[in-house]
Amino acid sequence: MKTVILNNGVEMPILGFGVYQIKPEETEKSVLDAIEVGYRSIDTATAYNNEEAVGRAIKNSAIDRSELFITTKLWIQYAGYEKAKKAFDTSLKKLQLDYLDLYLIHQPFGDVYGAWRAMEELYKEGRIRAIGVCNFQADRLVDLSINNDITPAINQIETHVFNQQINNQQVMKKYNIQIESWGPFAEGKNNMFTNELLVSMGGKYNKSVAQIVLRWLIQRNVVVIPKSVRKERMIENFNVFDFELSSIDMQKISTLDTGASLFFDHHDPEMVKRLCSLHK
Ligand code: NAP
Repeated sequence: MKTVILNNGVEMPILGFGVYQIKPEETEKSVLDAIEVGYRSIDTATAYNNEEAVGRAIKNSAIDRSELFITTKLWIQYAGYEKAKKAFDTSLKKLQLDYLDLYLIHQPFGDVYGAWRAMEELYKEGRIRAIGVCNFQADRLVDLSINNDITPAINQIETHVFNQQINNQQVMKKYNIQIESWGPFAEGKNNMFTNELLVSMGGKYNKSVAQIVLRWLIQRNVVVIPKSVRKERMIENFNVFDFELSSIDMQKISTLDTGASLFFDHHDPEMVKRLCSLHK
């Protein structure tokens, strides 16, 4: 498995398995299937309601803990120093783990500075191997980075062919922050799987559209965590290391960028209000 080296020297698989929207009762089997296929990096979150099932899968898999890379995330309602420490302990307990590989602030809202200080301490105590954030636009990311001891190792952000994050990636590179894509298939929005350019490119390389877009992200050095509950798709999404897109084809795919989210804008005041009031 190709890996990336994070800014603190920790090695992370460039391809992992995401479990957002997998029902709790389906999650253990899905994660066990993914591990059997070869995935070693698993991305969950407190907000996904399936950390316990991920924990059971880790426990019941034949793979040594040290070979796995486990990520979970701190939800908005737990932003703040004390709450973040408690939320971390709860997540570890649910996952049945004694350390995390990566802990991420899930949304850039609430007392993220308090949360970050708690995460820095947990990191220094050796309870988390790397800490990072999600959904931080470049301005917030730079602010957090320069006003704290530890620079985030990762920014996990919506990144796919229709929202390519070219400028954000450049800023992350400057600050040595690894970009990680969520929604590498845009969850199928915008008819991604039947896009004419991507289908024709699939024909050229004898690969599926899913494989083309994952490969395109990986060649841009973007960490990907595609989700599927179907084992045949897990296998398909895993088999992206036996071909290479030419620079001309990389360029062609870059023309699909709209520079806008297909989900929601983190700068939209109504959306911020809605997200922040979810727990109230
Ligand atoms: P995604 O991976 O872009 O898309 C998943 C969808 O694509 C599912 O409907 C899946 O259906 C389908 N699919 C998977 N492989 C396929 C294939 N080879 N061919 C056709 N369809 C395929 O969406 P996502 O789950 O939102 O994003 C990936 C991960 O990113 C999440 O699971 C989560 O871990 C993370 N994430 C993080 C945030 C954040 O705010 N930090 C937000 C969203 C997601 P089936 O399951 O039926 O195969």
